[in-house]
Amino acid sequence: MTQVDRYAVMGNPIAHSKSPQIHQLFAQQTGQSISYQAILVEKHGFAEAVAEFLTAGGKGLNVTVPFKQEAWQLADQLSARAQRAGAVNTLMLRESGSLLGDNTDGVGLVRDLTANLAVELAGKRLLILGAGGAARGVLAPLLEQDPTHLVIANRTAERAEELSGLFSDLGDLKGCGFDALGGEAFDVVINATAAGLQGEVPDLPEGLIGPETCCYDMVYGSAPTAFMRYAQQCGARCTFDGLGMLVEQAAESFRLWRGVSPETGPVIDFLRHQ
Ligand code: NAP
Repeated sequence: MTQVDRYAVMGNPIAHSKSPQIHQLFAQQTGQSISYQAILVEKHGFAEAVAEFLTAGGKGLNVTVPFKQEAWQLADQLSARAQRAGAVNTLMLRESGSLLGDNTDGVGLVRDLTANLAVELAGKRLLILGAGGAARGVLAPLLEQDPTHLVIANRTAERAEELSGLFSDLGDLKGCGFDALGGEAFDVVINATAAGLQGEVPDLPEGLIGPETCCYDMVYGSAPTAFMRYAQQCGARCTFDGLGMLVEQAAESFRLWRGVSPETGPVIDFLRHQ
């Protein structure tokens, strides 16, 4: 009997995860034979759960909230982008037996923005709302796109300031609280806060979003998110949710594990119309 290669996503909570469905669709599309499951891991049980999964023959893992930093510490080797992000969302068991940690969130966001949604980043003024793990993971790939400047604004200003200090060698970067944003309008505003999970919108001053602004919410849902609705009320040129980022980061993990790049468009369309 042939054994299929095993993959999984670990997190807490995990029941809502679309990753098993996304990877099964990738596998069908590329003719790969894999299994992929969602594993709920106890808050203090991540290292044990990974060890158990690998001992049972597991080949690779996606890692989500709240374990991305622990996965970073657990990996034997880190890709350059994971090293920089300080967080790992993809683990791969190498033939040598060592565990490689990667972070595909940033490339996922940039591909969704630039390739799927035709949002230009080069030469643009970017604003990121939030200074948690998601913001940190996407900063370097966004700065690689050569925006004129990037502002990180967060409810807790110190976290935004700290983050801007960590990445200041990569571009023109500033960190501040929401109230220090002033009235400058941005070309692209990315919501990387968790406010949307409670249906809330960050408490923002007026004037950040205008008729030239594209707004992107990393949160996604079956209806426009609270931040998308807020941006529409402000007259934004376009608003998008984070479903494409989710599929793109998964595709990059799949490519790392299997050596083939799945087509993401049909998978995004399928999930969108589900
Ligand atoms: P995190 O590390 O817990 O950080 C949460 C961030 O949200 C912090 O900056 C926090 O500000 C801010 N925040 C929380 N509630 C807020 C509120 N009511 N008003 C204003 N700011 C608030 O979480 P994360 O890992 O960065 O994830 C952030 C979001 O991105 C989550 O919703 C997650 O689902 C989403 N995400 C999506 C994808 C995708 O593929 N689409 C990938 C990664 C993450 P303080 O510092 O002041 O607490």
